[in-house]
Amino acid sequence: MKNQEFNRRQFIKSIGVGAAALTLPGWLQSCASEQKKPNILYIMSDDHAYQAISAYGSKLIQTPNIDRIANEGVRFENSFVTNSICAPSRAVLLTGKYSHKNGLRDNRDKFDGSQVTFPKLLQKAGYQTFMIGKWHLKTDPTGFDDWKILVGQGSYYNPVLIENGEKKKHIGYTTDLLTNFAIDELNQRDPDKPFCMLLHHKAPHRNWMPSPKYMDAFDDRELPLPETFYDDYATRSAAAREADMRVENMYLSFDMKLQPGSYQKETGTGGNAKAAATIEKAWKNTYENLTEEQKKAWNAHYNKVNEEFKKKNLSGDALLRWKYQRYIKDYLSCILSVDESVGRVLDYLDKNGLAENTVVVYTSDQGFYLGEHGWYDKRFMYEESLRMPLMLRYPKDVKAGQVAGAMVLNLDFAPTFLDYAGVKAPADMQGESFRAIARGVKPENWRTSIYYHYYEYPHGWHNVKRHYGVRTERYKLIHFYNDIDAWELYDLQKDPHELNNVIDDPDYTAIVKKLKLELNRLRQKYGDTKEDGAF
Ligand code: CA
Repeated sequence: MKNQEFNRRQFIKSIGVGAAALTLPGWLQSCASEQKKPNILYIMSDDHAYQAISAYGSKLIQTPNIDRIANEGVRFENSFVTNSICAPSRAVLLTGKYSHKNGLRDNRDKFDGSQVTFPKLLQKAGYQTFMIGKWHLKTDPTGFDDWKILVGQGSYYNPVLIENGEKKKHIGYTTDLLTNFAIDELNQRDPDKPFCMLLHHKAPHRNWMPSPKYMDAFDDRELPLPETFYDDYATRSAAAREADMRVENMYLSFDMKLQPGSYQKETGTGGNAKAAATIEKAWKNTYENLTEEQKKAWNAHYNKVNEEFKKKNLSGDALLRWKYQRYIKDYLSCILSVDESVGRVLDYLDKNGLAENTVVVYTSDQGFYLGEHGWYDKRFMYEESLRMPLMLRYPKDVKAGQVAGAMVLNLDFAPTFLDYAGVKAPADMQGESFRAIARGVKPENWRTSIYYHYYEYPHGWHNVKRHYGVRTERYKLIHFYNDIDAWELYDLQKDPHELNNVIDDPDYTAIVKKLKLELNRLRQKYGDTKEDGAF
């Protein structure tokens, strides 16, 4: 069976997709395509903040190709993640279930690939299913006809991929390579079947290594600091103060790409020489993974950075601001490659007559802090990490240029894609299809609050305490627990930047009471009644 499939695919490849399609008379082609289920192309980057997408009004960057999806379809203004961290977000995407139900609460857990996922259901319904890029779930993908995944987090250059079980190293820039693989896969597919492709970029995840093409893109710009850059966490519980994700503590080597020797002492390691040596070694290994040609391009840009840094001898606030500029410029440069990738894939759909019948989604696995509250990274239920960019294009069903305000979750992706494919979602999937919302119609009784739960503490990176909470259109109530028992309340209408925790303000007593009831209702509804997320 497997060989037959392989031979068929090889045959299609040898004659070319275009040739296969051309064998049908025009009227028959359009008749066939009208009956076809829509293709699904789900593009997800890693840690791409909505603040770095021009369709969301970014002050930092222009992303014309990503914006195309919003301009030609719908942009969601209130799209949220249920657990803001890489692997758990991916497990929620696949299963349509919260972390405590799909078994993957934090980055240490392994995904149970035997459970029901939307790609498996699409496969059963006759779809060809493809997974390309960052997987990060520790077990092999299931439910895909073909898969090529990065090992673990993946690297920016010369990545090793596991391709249907076999490891292979590729030379090149990962964002570009993944795009090539996606286009190759589409070229080789069976054109008589609908496809579902998940294209998951590694970029712009830490440590933000741009392609030579875009290294200099922001050289002549001083990028604005976010309004909350100097947040002193004065009204918050200890959770924000104790989190280890401040821009000031970013590593000079691994994050800032300074070569040891251009600075006196590594930062962010609390003066621990052993920790500093480990970080510097990690950076050295990353750099050494580049080919000689790539090193040449790399050095042409970063040697200047190293030399300037040496000359400036920065400290205190000047060093912090310098770090922010370095961080944000590398981060944005990585996004330019992602934007280019989106453009290439959209062009492919256009050229092959697939644009009309393909649901294209662009999103990220969660939000990210671009200096807000003095931070990088994610995890917290505060807005920049909770919010995901989300846009969808499907000309057959969705009018161009819409903006949707209803609250949607990454929990909703699986039931939504099944809905587009005409497949009934299993009753135990916890999300709701947002297909009607994409069409501009908000269903009656659509959710007016969302539930969130983060678990990766005390183990793991960044020291963000466990918490769960509820967000309504106007308010956000958060409970930090485990080694702390602290509640926070934000009035998003009066305080959109979440600087004033008003949990003890008597004016909000009635609101707190109401929100606690709503939180309990959601915890009951989703079956997450054990505080520690035990199954
Ligand atoms: Ca991520």
